[in-house]
Amino acid sequence: MKKPIKVQEVMPNDAFFYVLPLEQKFTLLRQTLDDHFGEVPVGYRRMMDTYARHVSFERELAKLRVHIKNDPKDYFIIFHVSPSELEVSCDCGMPGRKLCKHAYLGLRYLIGHHDESVELKQFYWPGISTSEKGKEKYLEVTIKEYYISIKPQKEFGSIYRPEAGFEHFAIPQLEKERGNNVEAVHSKDAKRDVLGYCIISRGRQYRSALPVLVPFWGTTDKAGERIVSFKQFLIHYQVPDNITLTPVQVELNVICKQMWDMEAPVEDVRQTTQQRQERKKEILALWHKAMAFRLSAEEFLYVNFRMLSSIKKYKPTKSCMRDCIINNAQVMLTFLLTEHQDHFVLEALVTDPQGKELALTNQTPRFFVSQRSGYHHYLLPSVQDNDLLEQLKETTNCLTILKQHFKDFEDKYLRTMSEFYPIIFKPLKSRKKVVYAYKAIHL
Ligand SMILES: [Zn+2]
Repeated sequence: MKKPIKVQEVMPNDAFFYVLPLEQKFTLLRQTLDDHFGEVPVGYRRMMDTYARHVSFERELAKLRVHIKNDPKDYFIIFHVSPSELEVSCDCGMPGRKLCKHAYLGLRYLIGHHDESVELKQFYWPGISTSEKGKEKYLEVTIKEYYISIKPQKEFGSIYRPEAGFEHFAIPQLEKERGNNVEAVHSKDAKRDVLGYCIISRGRQYRSALPVLVPFWGTTDKAGERIVSFKQFLIHYQVPDNITLTPVQVELNVICKQMWDMEAPVEDVRQTTQQRQERKKEILALWHKAMAFRLSAEEFLYVNFRMLSSIKKYKPTKSCMRDCIINNAQVMLTFLLTEHQDHFVLEALVTDPQGKELALTNQTPRFFVSQRSGYHHYLLPSVQDNDLLEQLKETTNCLTILKQHFKDFEDKYLRTMSEFYPIIFKPLKSRKKVVYAYKAIHL
């Protein structure tokens, strides 16, 4: 069972480290721990007055203080996590090179009294956990006795870990999916009572909620340019007789109804990831259809961040109706890879055809990006674009890759991404940006 000490530069040279296998990457099973412990495994009652406290995490090594019932001395154990192994040492020296009681109990405590396993991925920062002037260079470590959090410092967003990838970013199923571009004729009608359209969208924190287009009846000011009174959402009501629909509006209303029928019944229903992705595609396709019917040319467009069920019950509240412009221009998603001294940063760039930068903001409905003002909205071409951008927003649009991990990252992420999106590379100390090509970056 015992393995010879593994020489690693992160390990103190003189300490003996006992090696335990981890299952399915980073998972320590209680059974494994019990099997390696030479004595009879400790039961729940004896665990009661035994506890461990996090002391530190430095240069990939986590330190725990272990207190054992009826033992006046506390022990310190140090452990190192890799995808398939856990190496642990104890200040008792582990006589006989056997997994000692202190390390056993400390790790048992990490698993928890009632659990069968613990995932140790948060202790795995290969080459990333390095200190400069006694401080972690890339990581922010927070320790509160029985709680520890190890995450990248804010400026690095999410940092790439070989075999573990990024924390908030995975490549979705990459596939091409674009809206149709049928042009339709738009005609304009200026009446006192008008038909407007509103994007009803819950905030992005509601992961499964999707935006729906809803027509409404409003009354304009005397000039006929601005809606001053919002009368009714027209999902379950007839359009008033004094509003004459244009042929485009007739088409748009059909699309609105389709969106509503698809989204409203499941608004608060739990769904599997696959169901959610399917629905995203269907609803986004309807949005593209609405754009093809020149939704952007409609005169009265608004956004309202509400639930669909509340729309059904209530009339539009003026303060919740924010007017907006929906821009018909095609949005482009590209990535910028910037080389720094010891790492690379990958970020997404969203632009309109004039190169103006667009972004996801908290004021932008899902499926849309907007200009900084948050007033002009642009529909994203695909669910894939939307999902990539939403994931990147969680990392403040910053993915950090240390140079020693670049090759691995390039093979597992960048190569695939470059088949679907243009990637621009900005080398260190060079103002000239070049188009990224696989294996063209030499370190
Ligand atoms: Zn010990």
